Formats: sequence, structure tokens, C-alpha cells
Amino acid sequence: MVENMSRRGFDPLTYRFVEEAPEFGHVTRIAEGVYWIRMPLPGRLNHINVWLLEDKDGWTIVDTGIFTDDVQKHWKTIFANFLNGKPVTRVIATHLHTDHTGNAGWICREWGCDLWMSRADFYMCKTMANDGPSDVPDDAIRFYRRTGFTEERLDRYRQRFGHFGASISPLPAGYQRINDNQYIDIGGREWRAVIGHGHAPEHVCLYCPELKLIIAGDQILPKITPNVSVQPSEPNANPLREWINSCSRFREALPPNLLVLPAHESLYEGIHERLTELIDWHEVALEKLYEMCGEPVRAVDVFPALFKSKITEGSYFPATGEALAHLHCALERRMLTVEEDESGVAWWRQA
Ligand SMILES: [Zn+2]
Ligand SMILES: [Zn+2]
Repeated sequence: MVENMSRRGFDPLTYRFVEEAPEFGHVTRIAEGVYWIRMPLPGRLNHINVWLLEDKDGWTIVDTGIFTDDVQKHWKTIFANFLNGKPVTRVIATHLHTDHTGNAGWICREWGCDLWMSRADFYMCKTMANDGPSDVPDDAIRFYRRTGFTEERLDRYRQRFGHFGASISPLPAGYQRINDNQYIDIGGREWRAVIGHGHAPEHVCLYCPELKLIIAGDQILPKITPNVSVQPSEPNANPLREWINSCSRFREALPPNLLVLPAHESLYEGIHERLTELIDWHEVALEKLYEMCGEPVRAVDVFPALFKSKITEGSYFPATGEALAHLHCALERRMLTVEEDESGVAWWRQA
């Protein structure tokens, strides 16, 4: 997650429940049967918002926090104090990232309940969790060398490879698949799955027409634009095209007057305005990127076109993936061309 949105002056969103943000280990009621929980997250973001939905004979948990003793301790407090004697009967993970899936396996085992996810995210999460530290693939090294990584940074990639599995409780063997547009009955209400692409392969949002709210995960955050990245697992992907298309499709499919429950930051109203901002931000970034490509540049050279602040060590990998996402989108739109030099580094320039 790279913070790259800067709003100058006017903010078109209206924030809700700002004073009622729950302390860790507590819940805030948002609507009938919908409760807000926060779990700690290391780094500047410092929290994830997760949700407790009351069902007839139990509770559905949406997103679970990273897999640490601290987060598990807060879950145990919630289980002891806020479930009114009813069991957890379902865990939904909006997408594969470890702040969302971290405790899903553990909670499912604790309560003997099922995990619900999209198919692509379930399998990608399983695959990534199985990558051991010694398995650094050659094609992944070639992928990062092509972006302009130094040998030192490639070594850092080798060191961090396989860490995904350590930050997640093993997922169950099987899962309940969530499809786009699927209706899920929770507490006698219909919740509709709306699947977005670009940040994760198949990111599930949950829209409740009756309560006029949407659990948005990382797909529609109020202030930060979620990381849209090309990864070594699909080196020629164009996730930014998918991201922009998803934003447009959400704007057409969803009514404007929804309360948005995002996975990070504050609850808000103004979903159409936010979707428009997200599209516009990337379109402007593509123009800035084009301007930078008057001379041949490498992926690691174009960060200033995308990010306001200096890229720190911790955000270098997502920033590189995001730079590639914009380069690939511009390439497909025939704004840019690309050529590889003899050392395998790709150089991008205006078409
Ligand atoms: Zn995410
Ligand atoms: Zn997240």
C-alpha cells in the first residue's frame, strides 16, 4: 500500500463515525447487525478495519487482521465479550493480502466454520503461503533486474522471498467460493458480492442494498490509492487497465448514497466521487509518466511521476510494481515503447 493520493483543498467525501472508531478489542455498532472492529497493523497505516455481521444462528467475520499474538489476543477479547453466546459461523476474506487473511485459518479452526473467498484469491494466497525462503525463482530475479534493480536490491528480494507464509495462519484445505454478483444471506438480509480487479486478482466487496452500505475492503479506500502492481507471477499483466475498468463498473453498478466501510481509514459517503477520483488520479499519473519518458527511462526511474514522497526502503517493492503497472498500461495504449538492453534492463520511451 503506497500512499500517493494528494488532495489539494477540497475533499468531496463526508466522513462518518469519526468519533466512534473502536479501541482495539472493542466494537462499534454501525447499523442493525453490522459492527466495526479495528485490529493493529504495523507501519504508518497502524490499523485494519474488520467487520462482525450478525447472522440468525451465529456471526460472520469479514477480514481478520495479520497473524500476530497481539491481534489474536484482541480476537479472543471480542469472542469473549461481544458474541452474545452465538458462535462464529463464517469467515469472509475480501482478498488475499495478509492483513485480511492472516487469522482466517485460525478462526475457522477455532470455530469449525468455513472460509469464504473468491477463487483466484484463495488459490493465489495458498500458493504464496507455500513459497519457502530457499525457492527464489530465476525468472523472478530476471523480472526485477529488468526494472533496474541493483544487485544489492536483488539480494534484498532474495532475503524477503517466502515471508508471506510466515505472516498468515495456514488456510483450510477447502473454501466456499464467492462469485461476482452472488447473493449471500446474512442475518436474513441480502448481501451482494461485487468483485473488483487490479489490487488483488478478485477482490470481494459486499453490498447490502437494504442497509445502504458496502464493505469495500481495499478496493475503495477514502484517502490512499491501493497498490496496483505487476508481480513476477504474471510479468506482462496490465492490472491498471483492470483497476480503472473496475472503478468504472462499480460506479455504474452501485448507487451513490452508500455508506462505505473501507478496510483502512474512516467510514465515508461519496462512493461515486471517490471512484471518479481514483480513475482521474491514475489518468493524471499516466500523463506525467508519458512526460518523463521523453528520454529512455527504467521502471525504477519513474517513481516521481507517481509518488509525491520519496520512496523508502519498505515501499520500494510495491512502488516498483506500481510503476510497472502504469508502464504496461501506457504501453498497451501505445503511448510508450520498450526495449531491453544487453544486460536485460528494460528502457521505456515515448512512442
Ligand atoms: Zn490489499
Ligand atoms: Zn489491506
